[in-house]
Amino acid sequence: MRTPLIAGNWKMNKTASEAARFARELIQSPLSAAVIDIVIAPPFTALAAVRDALGQASSIELGAQNLHWETHGAFTGEISAPMLKDLGCRYVILGHSERRAQFGERDDLIRKKLLAALTHGLNPILCVGESLHERESGITAEVIERQLKGCLAGFEPAQLAPLTIAYEPVWAIGTGKAATPDQAVDVHQLIRHTLETGWSASVAAATRILYGGSMTPQNVEGFLAFPDIDGALIGGACLQVDSFATIVRLAQKRIGH
Ligand code: PEP
Repeated sequence: MRTPLIAGNWKMNKTASEAARFARELIQSPLSAAVIDIVIAPPFTALAAVRDALGQASSIELGAQNLHWETHGAFTGEISAPMLKDLGCRYVILGHSERRAQFGERDDLIRKKLLAALTHGLNPILCVGESLHERESGITAEVIERQLKGCLAGFEPAQLAPLTIAYEPVWAIGTGKAATPDQAVDVHQLIRHTLETGWSASVAAATRILYGGSMTPQNVEGFLAFPDIDGALIGGACLQVDSFATIVRLAQKRIGH
Protein backbone atom coordinates (compact mmCIF):
# COMPACT_ATOMS: atom_id res chain seq x y z
CA MET A 1 0.00 0.00 0.00
CA ARG A 2 1.50 3.34 -1.07
CA THR A 3 1.03 6.16 1.46
CA PRO A 4 -0.56 9.17 -0.24
CA LEU A 5 1.64 12.25 -0.48
CA ILE A 6 0.52 15.87 -0.77
CA ALA A 7 3.37 18.26 -1.54
CA GLY A 8 3.26 22.03 -1.88
CA ASN A 9 5.76 23.71 -4.21
CA TRP A 10 5.94 27.33 -3.11
CA LYS A 11 8.25 28.33 -5.98
CA MET A 12 9.72 31.85 -5.47
CA ASN A 13 7.05 33.00 -3.02
CA LYS A 14 7.07 34.17 0.60
CA THR A 15 9.79 35.78 2.66
CA ALA A 16 11.11 33.86 5.67
CA SER A 17 8.74 35.71 8.02
CA GLU A 18 5.72 35.16 5.76
CA ALA A 19 6.68 31.50 5.50
CA ALA A 20 6.96 31.08 9.26
CA ARG A 21 3.51 32.64 9.69
CA PHE A 22 2.11 30.21 7.12
CA ALA A 23 3.67 27.22 8.92
CA ARG A 24 2.32 28.33 12.30
CA GLU A 25 -1.18 28.70 10.81
CA LEU A 26 -0.94 25.37 9.00
CA ILE A 27 -0.18 23.41 12.16
CA GLN A 28 -3.21 25.06 13.80
CA SER A 29 -5.48 23.85 10.96
CA PRO A 30 -7.70 20.95 11.83
CA LEU A 31 -6.24 18.01 9.92
CA SER A 32 -7.50 14.50 10.52
CA ALA A 33 -5.40 11.80 12.15
CA ALA A 34 -5.28 9.73 8.95
CA VAL A 35 -1.66 9.19 8.10
CA ILE A 36 -0.55 10.59 4.80
CA ASP A 37 2.73 12.28 3.97
CA ILE A 38 2.57 16.08 3.82
CA VAL A 39 5.47 18.10 2.44
CA ILE A 40 5.94 21.83 2.04
CA ALA A 41 8.76 23.12 -0.15
CA PRO A 42 9.47 26.81 0.55
CA PRO A 43 12.32 28.76 -1.04
CA PHE A 44 15.82 28.01 0.35
CA THR A 45 15.78 31.28 2.32
CA ALA A 46 12.71 30.20 4.30
CA LEU A 47 13.63 26.58 5.09
CA ALA A 48 15.07 27.23 8.55
CA ALA A 49 12.22 29.55 9.53
CA VAL A 50 9.61 27.00 8.42
CA ARG A 51 11.42 24.18 10.20
CA ASP A 52 11.46 26.17 13.44
CA ALA A 53 7.82 27.22 13.08
CA LEU A 54 6.67 23.64 12.44
CA GLY A 55 8.58 22.43 15.50
CA GLN A 56 9.62 18.92 16.44
CA ALA A 57 6.11 17.54 16.93
CA SER A 58 4.75 18.34 13.48
CA SER A 59 4.39 15.50 11.00
CA ILE A 60 4.63 17.99 8.13
CA GLU A 61 7.91 17.43 6.32
CA LEU A 62 10.21 20.00 4.77
CA GLY A 63 11.19 19.84 1.12
CA ALA A 64 13.50 21.88 -1.12
CA GLN A 65 12.82 22.88 -4.72
CA ASN A 66 16.25 22.11 -6.17
CA LEU A 67 19.83 21.19 -5.30
CA HIS A 68 23.31 21.10 -6.80
CA TRP A 69 24.76 17.66 -7.53
CA GLU A 70 28.11 18.32 -5.84
CA THR A 71 28.46 18.35 -2.06
CA HIS A 72 30.49 21.58 -1.86
CA GLY A 73 32.93 23.72 -3.82
CA ALA A 74 33.16 26.64 -6.22
CA PHE A 75 29.52 26.76 -7.38
CA THR A 76 28.43 30.32 -6.65
CA GLY A 77 24.79 30.60 -5.72
CA GLU A 78 24.17 26.86 -5.39
CA ILE A 79 22.94 24.68 -2.50
CA SER A 80 23.99 21.06 -1.93
CA ALA A 81 22.17 17.98 -0.62
CA PRO A 82 24.14 17.88 2.68
CA MET A 83 23.21 21.55 3.27
CA LEU A 84 19.53 20.69 2.80
CA LYS A 85 19.75 17.64 5.06
CA ASP A 86 21.42 19.75 7.73
CA LEU A 87 18.47 22.18 7.59
CA GLY A 88 16.01 19.35 8.20
CA CYS A 89 14.83 18.72 4.64
CA ARG A 90 13.60 15.22 3.86
CA TYR A 91 12.39 15.80 0.29
CA VAL A 92 13.62 17.63 -2.79
CA ILE A 93 11.71 18.45 -5.98
CA LEU A 94 13.85 17.77 -9.06
CA GLY A 95 13.32 18.31 -12.78
CA HIS A 96 10.40 20.71 -12.43
CA SER A 97 9.32 21.96 -15.86
CA GLU A 98 10.17 25.54 -14.86
CA ARG A 99 13.76 24.45 -14.21
CA ARG A 100 13.82 22.52 -17.45
CA ALA A 101 12.42 25.44 -19.49
CA GLN A 102 13.98 28.46 -17.80
CA PHE A 103 17.27 27.09 -16.47
CA GLY A 104 18.14 24.62 -19.22
CA GLU A 105 17.95 21.50 -17.03
CA ARG A 106 18.17 18.36 -19.10
CA ASP A 107 17.60 14.74 -18.19
CA ASP A 108 21.32 13.92 -17.76
CA LEU A 109 21.78 16.84 -15.35
CA ILE A 110 18.61 15.91 -13.43
CA ARG A 111 20.04 12.37 -13.17
CA LYS A 112 23.11 13.78 -11.40
CA LYS A 113 20.88 15.69 -9.00
CA LEU A 114 18.84 12.55 -8.30
CA LEU A 115 22.03 10.67 -7.50
CA ALA A 116 23.09 13.42 -5.08
CA ALA A 117 19.67 13.38 -3.38
CA LEU A 118 19.63 9.59 -3.01
CA THR A 119 23.26 9.45 -1.86
CA HIS A 120 22.58 11.95 0.91
CA GLY A 121 19.28 10.48 2.08
CA LEU A 122 16.84 12.97 0.55
CA ASN A 123 13.61 11.65 -0.99
CA PRO A 124 13.43 13.02 -4.54
CA ILE A 125 10.17 14.05 -6.21
CA LEU A 126 11.05 13.76 -9.89
CA CYS A 127 8.82 15.82 -12.21
CA VAL A 128 8.05 14.68 -15.74
CA GLY A 129 5.54 16.05 -18.23
CA GLU A 130 4.87 16.92 -21.83
CA SER A 131 4.31 20.35 -23.40
CA LEU A 132 1.07 21.26 -25.15
CA HIS A 133 2.77 20.93 -28.52
CA GLU A 134 4.02 17.46 -27.61
CA ARG A 135 0.56 16.35 -26.46
CA GLU A 136 -1.07 17.74 -29.59
CA SER A 137 1.54 15.97 -31.70
CA GLY A 138 0.61 12.64 -30.10
CA ILE A 139 4.03 12.06 -28.56
CA THR A 140 3.16 12.29 -24.84
CA ALA A 141 4.14 8.66 -24.15
CA GLU A 142 7.43 9.03 -26.01
CA VAL A 143 8.33 12.20 -24.07
CA ILE A 144 7.48 10.73 -20.66
CA GLU A 145 9.43 7.54 -21.39
CA ARG A 146 12.42 9.54 -22.62
CA GLN A 147 12.41 11.72 -19.49
CA LEU A 148 12.15 8.71 -17.17
CA LYS A 149 14.83 6.71 -18.96
CA GLY A 150 17.15 9.72 -19.11
CA CYS A 151 16.71 10.77 -15.48
CA LEU A 152 16.80 7.27 -14.02
CA ALA A 153 19.49 5.74 -16.24
CA GLY A 154 21.96 3.57 -14.38
CA PHE A 155 20.09 3.37 -11.07
CA GLU A 156 19.61 -0.07 -9.55
CA PRO A 157 16.01 -0.88 -8.56
CA ALA A 158 16.99 -0.95 -4.87
CA GLN A 159 18.31 2.63 -5.08
CA LEU A 160 14.90 3.91 -6.18
CA ALA A 161 12.96 3.05 -3.00
CA PRO A 162 12.83 6.71 -1.82
CA LEU A 163 11.71 8.01 -5.24
CA THR A 164 8.38 9.73 -5.93
CA ILE A 165 7.42 10.76 -9.46
CA ALA A 166 5.16 13.71 -10.21
CA TYR A 167 3.36 13.73 -13.55
CA GLU A 168 2.98 17.41 -14.37
CA PRO A 169 1.78 18.20 -17.89
CA VAL A 170 3.45 21.52 -18.68
CA TRP A 171 0.25 22.88 -20.22
CA ALA A 172 -1.59 22.36 -16.93
CA ILE A 173 0.89 24.14 -14.67
CA GLY A 174 -0.33 27.50 -13.47
CA THR A 175 -2.88 27.73 -16.29
CA GLY A 176 -6.06 26.80 -14.46
CA LYS A 177 -6.52 24.03 -17.04
CA ALA A 178 -5.92 20.80 -15.18
CA ALA A 179 -5.66 17.52 -17.06
CA THR A 180 -8.71 15.33 -16.69
CA PRO A 181 -8.31 12.49 -14.19
CA ASP A 182 -8.53 10.08 -17.16
CA GLN A 183 -5.65 11.82 -18.94
CA ALA A 184 -3.60 11.67 -15.73
CA VAL A 185 -4.40 7.99 -15.10
CA ASP A 186 -3.28 7.06 -18.64
CA VAL A 187 0.12 8.65 -18.05
CA HIS A 188 0.44 7.28 -14.52
CA GLN A 189 -0.11 3.78 -15.92
CA LEU A 190 2.48 4.43 -18.61
CA ILE A 191 4.95 5.58 -15.92
CA ARG A 192 4.31 2.43 -13.89
CA HIS A 193 4.78 0.28 -16.97
CA THR A 194 8.05 2.05 -17.82
CA LEU A 195 9.29 1.49 -14.25
CA GLU A 196 8.37 -2.18 -14.49
CA THR A 197 10.08 -2.85 -17.80
CA GLY A 198 13.10 -0.63 -17.12
CA TRP A 199 13.70 -1.40 -13.44
CA SER A 200 11.48 -3.95 -11.66
CA ALA A 201 7.91 -4.92 -10.86
CA SER A 202 8.49 -4.02 -7.23
CA VAL A 203 9.76 -0.52 -8.12
CA ALA A 204 6.66 -0.09 -10.31
CA ALA A 205 4.36 -1.21 -7.50
CA ALA A 206 6.04 0.78 -4.73
CA THR A 207 6.78 4.13 -6.40
CA ARG A 208 4.33 6.90 -5.61
CA ILE A 209 3.12 8.83 -8.63
CA LEU A 210 1.57 12.25 -7.98
CA TYR A 211 -0.43 14.40 -10.33
CA GLY A 212 0.39 18.11 -10.54
CA GLY A 213 -1.06 20.95 -12.62
CA SER A 214 -3.80 23.38 -11.57
CA MET A 215 -5.01 21.18 -8.76
CA THR A 216 -7.44 22.85 -6.37
CA PRO A 217 -9.68 21.89 -3.46
CA GLN A 218 -12.46 21.65 -6.08
CA ASN A 219 -10.83 19.10 -8.39
CA VAL A 220 -8.51 17.10 -6.12
CA GLU A 221 -11.04 14.40 -5.20
CA GLY A 222 -11.64 13.57 -8.85
CA PHE A 223 -7.95 12.66 -9.17
CA LEU A 224 -7.56 10.90 -5.84
CA ALA A 225 -10.50 8.60 -6.63
CA PHE A 226 -8.11 6.63 -8.84
CA PRO A 227 -5.81 4.12 -7.12
CA ASP A 228 -3.04 4.91 -9.62
CA ILE A 229 -2.90 8.54 -8.42
CA ASP A 230 -1.00 8.56 -5.14
CA GLY A 231 -1.30 12.22 -4.30
CA ALA A 232 -0.61 15.68 -5.61
CA LEU A 233 2.09 18.24 -6.23
CA ILE A 234 0.42 21.60 -5.74
CA GLY A 235 1.64 25.01 -6.90
CA GLY A 236 -0.75 27.98 -6.73
CA ALA A 237 -3.25 26.34 -4.39
CA CYS A 238 -0.59 25.59 -1.76
CA LEU A 239 0.13 29.25 -1.05
CA GLN A 240 -2.94 29.84 1.11
CA VAL A 241 -3.25 27.83 4.31
CA ASP A 242 -6.99 27.22 3.78
CA SER A 243 -6.73 25.73 0.31
CA PHE A 244 -3.64 23.64 1.10
CA ALA A 245 -5.17 22.32 4.35
CA THR A 246 -8.42 21.50 2.51
CA ILE A 247 -6.52 19.49 -0.10
CA VAL A 248 -4.68 17.64 2.68
CA ARG A 249 -7.97 16.87 4.44
CA LEU A 250 -9.53 15.56 1.21
CA ALA A 251 -6.51 13.29 0.69
CA GLN A 252 -6.80 12.08 4.27
CA LYS A 253 -10.49 11.33 3.69
CA ARG A 254 -9.51 8.96 0.88
CA ILE A 255 -7.65 6.67 3.27
CA GLY A 256 -9.68 7.49 6.34
CA HIS A 257 -12.45 4.98 5.64
C1 PEP B 1 3.70 23.09 -10.05
O1 PEP B 1 4.29 24.06 -10.50
O2 PEP B 1 4.33 22.10 -9.63
C2 PEP B 1 2.24 23.12 -10.04
C3 PEP B 1 1.60 21.99 -9.92
O3 PEP B 1 1.67 24.35 -10.18
P1 PEP B 1 0.10 24.71 -10.20
O4 PEP B 1 -0.57 23.86 -9.15
O5 PEP B 1 0.04 26.16 -9.88
O6 PEP B 1 -0.39 24.38 -11.57
